[in-house]
Order: sequence, then structure tokens, then C-alpha cells
Amino acid sequence: MIDTTYRCEICGETSEDPMSWVVIRCEANQLTIYRWSQEAADAPQALHYCGQRHAQMYISRWFEADNECP
Ligand SMILES: [Zn+2]
Repeated sequence: MIDTTYRCEICGETSEDPMSWVVIRCEANQLTIYRWSQEAADAPQALHYCGQRHAQMYISRWFEADNECP
């Protein structure tokens, strides 16, 4: 297994074992939220958040950015 370090898009925190993290994929007019899984985390366009709070912060920005990927 390859060790990958993930970094929170909001606060920059890193973790090699981010089991309670959240993954969001941003596509045109669509935001998809995943519970952490290796598959979701490594998907193209996947963004990583250290927890629900920072995932919500991103979601707020997305609404403010008129559904563009901020
Ligand atoms: Zn964070």
C-alpha cells in the first residue's frame, strides 16, 4: 500500500490516516460529498477536509461562488 498524505483544503492540516475526514468532489453545478474512503479520496477532482466543519465551510463558499468550484 502506498502511503499518501492528505491535506485539508481549508486549514492545511495533514494526515496519513484521515478516517474521520470528508471528501468532496466539485463538478460543474454539482457537489458530491463522501464519507472518507480510499476510493473517493483518490478520485480525480477530490478535495479533502479534516472534518465536517471544514467541509461545510467549503460548501458555503461554493454557494457564494454561484455553484462554481471555488
Ligand atoms: Zn481543516
